[in-house]
Amino acid sequence: QIQEPQLQGQDTGMQCEDDRTGIGVETLKRAFLDNLFYVQGKFPALATKHDYYMALAYTVRDRLLQRWVNTAAIYTQQGSRTVAYLSAEFLMGPHLGNNLINLGIYNQVQQAMTELKLDLKELLAKEEEPGLGNGGLGRLAACYLDSLASLEIPTLGYGIRYEFGIFDQLIRNGWQVEKTDKWLRYGNPWEIARPEWAVSVKFGGRTEAHKNAQGRYRVRWIPHKVVLGIPYDTPILGYKVNTANTLRLWKAEAPESFDFEAFNRGNYYGAVDQKVTSENLTKVLYPNDETYEGKQLRLEQQYFFVSCALQDMLRIMLRQKLPLEQFHEKFAVQLNDTHPAIAVAELMRLLLDEHDMDWEPAWEITQKTFGYTNHTLLPEALEKWSLKLFSSLLPRHLEIIYEINWRFLEQVRHKFGTDEGRIGRLSLIDENDGKFVRMAHLACVGSHKINGVAALHSELLQKTTLLDFYEFFPEKFTNITNGVTPRRWIVLSNPKLTNLITSCIGDNWIKHLEDVQRIETYAEDPGFQQEWQQIKRENKVNVAEILLDRTGVKVDPDSLFDIQVKRIHQYKRQHLNILHAITLYNQIKQNPNLDITPRTLIFAGKAAPGYYIAKLIIKLINSVAEVVNKDPDIGDRLKVVFLPDYNVKNSQPIYPAADLSEQISTAGKEASGTGNMKFAMNGALTIGTLDGTNIEIRNAVGAENFFLFGLTTEDVGALRLTGYRPREYYKENPQLKQAIDQIASGYFSHGDRSLFKPLVDLLLDKDPFMLMADYQPYIDCQQQVSQTYRDRDRWLQMSILNTARMGKFSSDRAIREYCQQIWKVQPVPVQLAAEKTGDG
Ligand code: PLP
Repeated sequence: QIQEPQLQGQDTGMQCEDDRTGIGVETLKRAFLDNLFYVQGKFPALATKHDYYMALAYTVRDRLLQRWVNTAAIYTQQGSRTVAYLSAEFLMGPHLGNNLINLGIYNQVQQAMTELKLDLKELLAKEEEPGLGNGGLGRLAACYLDSLASLEIPTLGYGIRYEFGIFDQLIRNGWQVEKTDKWLRYGNPWEIARPEWAVSVKFGGRTEAHKNAQGRYRVRWIPHKVVLGIPYDTPILGYKVNTANTLRLWKAEAPESFDFEAFNRGNYYGAVDQKVTSENLTKVLYPNDETYEGKQLRLEQQYFFVSCALQDMLRIMLRQKLPLEQFHEKFAVQLNDTHPAIAVAELMRLLLDEHDMDWEPAWEITQKTFGYTNHTLLPEALEKWSLKLFSSLLPRHLEIIYEINWRFLEQVRHKFGTDEGRIGRLSLIDENDGKFVRMAHLACVGSHKINGVAALHSELLQKTTLLDFYEFFPEKFTNITNGVTPRRWIVLSNPKLTNLITSCIGDNWIKHLEDVQRIETYAEDPGFQQEWQQIKRENKVNVAEILLDRTGVKVDPDSLFDIQVKRIHQYKRQHLNILHAITLYNQIKQNPNLDITPRTLIFAGKAAPGYYIAKLIIKLINSVAEVVNKDPDIGDRLKVVFLPDYNVKNSQPIYPAADLSEQISTAGKEASGTGNMKFAMNGALTIGTLDGTNIEIRNAVGAENFFLFGLTTEDVGALRLTGYRPREYYKENPQLKQAIDQIASGYFSHGDRSLFKPLVDLLLDKDPFMLMADYQPYIDCQQQVSQTYRDRDRWLQMSILNTARMGKFSSDRAIREYCQQIWKVQPVPVQLAAEKTGDG
């Protein structure tokens, strides 16, 4: 049972309930069976689990629609200032469970299903999640939409409706195998297509000058092709409010299904060709996290959704009869990383070429409109597009970018004189090694605010990656530390913990996570500790069942659950974690009676399909698991498991089941991290480096409740400067040497010495992420973890204090900061028509 909000003004009586809005159990049952019949076209004897899921989803959607339509009506009437969140990724996760929580009808629906002899949990499991993102960045966008709606902020999320989201991951013989994600196969009950609001997007071709009515020179873009953007809308309901905002995702279509001219010439296949190429545009999400590929289709995707979004905003302004000069007053547009940065040039183009505005006012509006969130310092993730590609695809935008650059560099010269080095570093065009458009530079120049996503990250941006921009306009820079929504990541994922907390302090904490601090008074209460422990154990039993079901590995729920789940990346150092596993294994093998704290090491995460070393790390984890798990000397003292296909749905049971959260990136590499927050909120202790938001989490929970190890960012820099020699650590540390030698000698690969050679060579010769230097401090810190775990009361107290002190990491706090510091936007409460008239 989940503690639920009571929506005001809702009619819960059974007599007069409307079948589409009522929330009494009898009404829900009736509406559900009605949808099963009239929407799915099935009667119970023939219905599949999926039919039942769909019928329930439509029943829930009906209850959202009333709020959605009311919200849109109020925003339109009031011409409300609106946040437009532009993101190439939205990793929403399954909608049904979240909507039940936010609507406050979880318990009624559960009862209704039980009375119909159905299991709500099974129906929830039927939902295919829209995996329209890679990892942290896309999931952040989803948490922010939840908070924006919960805080009643008018918002449009704009993105791409990829037909294939992030691939499904299978593990075959220890290797990752990618399978296409056909998430739309059985239909998507949460979206409504709005073809009446389609827009045209141009590509390629050339530009030409012409004179406008006043005799002024203007530019016209004659494209090579035109693609239609069709919006698909999904309601995003806030928690305990009537606000239902919109996530608007764009699908590409050909302007005409057939090119009739070609058809009439008898070229049927040629005629269909245009349709196929147009629709390829939104076919698939690029599965790279923290890297980019300079692929034409990716730039086309970025421009496509940005152009759709800005044209849609202009349409809204026209409908609300607002003059275009007020664009920045109507919309605060946030760029989630540089993926949508072309928006700066596109808004200029729309204002200049299509709405006949002059450069200066257009540029002032543009700069006041955009805010830019930087998500990474990793050089391989900083997007730049070759001029050749850019000019062939977006010739008009390149002209505009040259003009922006010319004017900007004039200002730089005015401020700093002719410092050619500085001018070269600041230019929007990279001329170092070929010619490229630097998208981060375009975003910086075209925005009024630039933020990093953790205190350390924002500081490093100002000191390194964006130093020259910081020196030029320091007032633009700020930090907004990321957050996650407690609705999905505590209430929905961990209902038992939710009930325990609520039974002690009421449910205000769900909307105001700072309030969860009030459970601190129970941190040493034996009764409370007992319940806390019991809940953690039940969550671990649940994950043990999942692991057995999906991997065949049986794990002991009383062992320490030590979990690292996130994208597989060298900088995240899953291979450091595996070196610890090998070390523990060797310690037990050397001393079979060793009394160690039993551990279960759980890994999950996808590797980018073209990222060879990351895929080899997955193979290594599975190879070590194979040896460790079947060794009778080891028994239940150590298990290593790789759970396939990490996504939002699979992650939800994981965070609540963790004792230990692995956040072990090389210092200075992880911009923020948000998985770290989800673990700590659910009472896991963190073993981590001073990186990203680990630092802020440690400050919040107290250094004594956090397992810290490893080099600092400064240490990493200094070591690199003095000449880092990874092989020295290997030579001098027998435990480390043994572990590496085993990997190299084929101990974990049936004698195959070549398999892991690329990884071993990389570690011994280059070790770009300094595992060798951090190995011993990590092993020592893990030893401390094991010791502490044996002190049950101390561990429980630390666990409770972690949850209690995570208030800051709610995405509600982050969104309040964006609203105050960047967007200057106010809540617009939504009342349902029934509330206003007071007639129920
Ligand atoms: N992938 C999924 C499915 C997630 O839920 C998260 C959590 O925020 C991430 C990736 C990012 O994890 P991390 O911040 O640990 O890299």
